[in-house]
Amino acid sequence: MSADRSRRTLTLAHLYPSLMNLYGDRGNIMALRARCAARGIDLQVRAVEIGDAWDPEETDLVFIGGGQDREQRRIHQDLAARAGPLRDYRDADGVILAVCGGYQMFGRSYRDIDGDVMDGVGVFDIVSAHPGRRFERCVGNVVALWEDDTLVGFENHGGRTYLNEGAEPLATVVAGFGNNGGDGTEGARVRNAFGTYLHGALLPKNPRLADRLIGLALARRGGEAALAPLDDYYESRAHAEALHAGLRR
Ligand code: GLN
Repeated sequence: MSADRSRRTLTLAHLYPSLMNLYGDRGNIMALRARCAARGIDLQVRAVEIGDAWDPEETDLVFIGGGQDREQRRIHQDLAARAGPLRDYRDADGVILAVCGGYQMFGRSYRDIDGDVMDGVGVFDIVSAHPGRRFERCVGNVVALWEDDTLVGFENHGGRTYLNEGAEPLATVVAGFGNNGGDGTEGARVRNAFGTYLHGALLPKNPRLADRLIGLALARRGGEAALAPLDDYYESRAHAEALHAGLRR
């Protein structure tokens, strides 16, 4: 890819958009596309459904949204076949955003509501397990501390996620359950891979995280990671509303 094109074009692989798209997670793609376009960057989105080819060499960002256990079972085999290339992409500092069910499937394993264990992709050193039908789901607005900022969103998951020794959380919970409602962690981060339980959609309400993903992808292609600031009046309003909703929880 020429350096000039790399600065103006980014390619996002959207994994299983017809199956893994709970609670408006598609809004993350819309936010990335709008924030790229505002800087003259063309974000090309490639849907990768079950059986579709995927070229890591042509990919700058990978996104997988949330899903019910049923959808996670449907994608499990196809995703397992992509585990090696996805780990290699992670190790090559490829940018990843995995949300909720997608986040669970990007760990080492997920035990679903029926107690069936699915192998994960192994991008994140985490394990996730649904405790069963008699346990309450983790539902509500979430506020978490990320670097010197806050992340806000909405969670709705039965599964609980646990970081293995040495694994790095994405954020620290201020309000809500986060990974498991017990250890105060939310999500996971490894190299340029970000995992989270936050729906909302996440990125429209958290523009700094959206720009971080774009900047990392540009830098990896030899472009300039520093992005021109945008007028984030509405994004900031949405963030503040979600922050207050979470703190009132
Ligand atoms: N099915 C998973 C769970 O219940 C993930 C749900 C989701 O993606 N919101 O934990």
